[in-house]
Amino acid sequence: MTQIKEMGWNFDNSYARLPESFFKNIEPVPVHSPELVILNKSFAKSLGLNEKNLQSKEGIEVLAGNQVPEGALPIAQAYAGHQFGHFTMLGDGRAVLLGEQITPSQERIDIQLKGSGRTPFSRGGDGRATLGPMLREYIISEAMHALGIPTNRSLSVVTTGESVIRETILPGAILTRAAASHLRIGTFEYAAKWGSIEEIRILADYAIKRHFPEMEDNEDRYLSLFQEVVERQAALIAKWQLVGFIHGVMNTDNMTISGETIDYGPCAFMDEYDPATVFSSIDMQGRYAYQNQPAIGQWNLARFAETLLPLLHEKQEHAVELAQEALSMYEHLYHSHWLAGMREKLGIQNEEEEDKPLIEDLLRIMEKHHADFTNTFRALTLDKLEDTPMNGTTEFTHWYEQWQKRLTRQENSTTSAYQLMKNSNPALIPRNHRVEEALEAAVNKGDYSVMEQFMDVLSNPYAYSSLQEEYTKLPEPSNRPYVTYCGT
Ligand code: AMP
Ligand code: MG
Repeated sequence: MTQIKEMGWNFDNSYARLPESFFKNIEPVPVHSPELVILNKSFAKSLGLNEKNLQSKEGIEVLAGNQVPEGALPIAQAYAGHQFGHFTMLGDGRAVLLGEQITPSQERIDIQLKGSGRTPFSRGGDGRATLGPMLREYIISEAMHALGIPTNRSLSVVTTGESVIRETILPGAILTRAAASHLRIGTFEYAAKWGSIEEIRILADYAIKRHFPEMEDNEDRYLSLFQEVVERQAALIAKWQLVGFIHGVMNTDNMTISGETIDYGPCAFMDEYDPATVFSSIDMQGRYAYQNQPAIGQWNLARFAETLLPLLHEKQEHAVELAQEALSMYEHLYHSHWLAGMREKLGIQNEEEEDKPLIEDLLRIMEKHHADFTNTFRALTLDKLEDTPMNGTTEFTHWYEQWQKRLTRQENSTTSAYQLMKNSNPALIPRNHRVEEALEAAVNKGDYSVMEQFMDVLSNPYAYSSLQEEYTKLPEPSNRPYVTYCGT
C-alpha cells in the first residue's frame, strides 16, 4: 500500500479558516472504478508530488475523490456572480477544494477536484463532469501555460467508471486542477451581498495575504488590492487578445483575483481573424465575443469595485470616487499591455506614435482577407509571405514596405527583431480541429496517444520546430462555424 505521505501531498487549508459562511464542509462522493487516463508528470513534480506513487491504486483513489489524503479538508466554496450580466448565487456545485498544496518552493496552490459529486451548491445539477470537457480543459489550460499566459493548471484526469447523463450518456471524469487560488470576483460579490462589512474585510485581507503580501501593512491596502487586480486583469486580457484566445464565459464568477485564467468551458482560439468571433453556443448576443473581452473585463472589475466600497472609505461618495479613479486606469493599462505585445509580435523594440496605426492597418487587412490570426504572425516571423492570403495584394504589399522601413528605425538589428518575433508569436495554438481530433481518439477509442503527441508539441509553442508544422495547418473548409458547448 502506498501511504498518502509517499505521494507527496502536503496540505494546509487556510481558506477553511475563513468564517464558515464562505464554504461548506463536504466529502467528495466516491466513484465506482477510477482509472487514471492522463497525468501531468512535470507539473506533479513541481508541486512536490511523487509521480510514481500518484499512479498507484491509492494515488488514483485520491485523484478520484475516493480517499481524502491526510491533511486535506474538503470543502465547497461559496460564491455568487454576474452571469451574462445577471446576478445570481452560485458556489462549487461540482467541485471540491481539497486544500492548498505547499510546494517544495513554498508556494501555496489550491488543489481542486472538478466533477467530484453533488454539493450544497449543486442546485439541480448532478455534480459530475464528463470526460471530453475535462480533457479539453486539460489541453487548453496547459497550452495557455506554455504560451506564457497566467492560468490554473491541470494535474490529472481520471475516469470514474460511471455514466453521466447529458443529451446522451457519457463517461464520467474528474479533473484535478491547481490554481494560485479560487478567489473570484464572485467570492467578493457573495460576501458583499450576504455578509457583513467585517466579512468583506476578512476576505479582502485574506486575498491580500495570499496574493499581494507586500500590501499587508499598507494603510490604503483595499484600494491597492483593487488597483492590483485591475492591473493583473488588464495584463491577462491583453495576453488573450494577443494570441486570439476567446474565453467564452467571462462571468464575474470566472474572473480571478490572482489574475489567472480560470474555468475553461466553451473557450477556443480564433482561426481566421474576425473581431466579432464567438464560439460559445450559449452566447447568442455575442456578449463575450473576441472584441468585447477587454471591455467586459472592465465591466467585471466595476462589479468587484462595488463590493469593496465599504472598505475604501466610510463616506460612500468618497469611496465611489476612489474606485472610479482606479477603474479608469484599466483602459490605459490594457491598451499599453496590448500595444507593447503587438509591437513585440512585429519585432518593434522602440516606440513611435505611428506604431498603433501600423498595427491597426495590418489587422484591418487581415480581417478583409480572412487571414488566419496565428499563421499571419507566423508567416511574418518566418518571412514566408506566400503563406498568407493577403500576399500579393496592393494593400498588404504597401503595409509590408511600411513595416520593413519601421524595423530600420530602431537601433537593434533585423536579426534581433525577428528573434523577438519568434519569442512572441506562437508557431501553433491548440487549433479547434486538432483539439477535437485528440478528444475523439481519447473518448471514443480510448487512444490517448493523439492527445499526448499534441500536448508535446503544444508544450513549447515558440519552438518553431519541424514537428510543429503539421499542427499549423488550417482545418478543411467547412460550411459550419465551430461551436463550443459549456460542457457540463
Ligand atoms: P461554470 O459554467 O463551470 O462556471 O459553472 C457555473 C455554476 O454551475 C457553478 O456554480 C458550478 O458549480 C455549477 N455547475 C456546473 N455544472 C454543474 C453540475 N453538473 N452539477 C452541479 N453544478 C454544476
Ligand atoms: Mg465558473
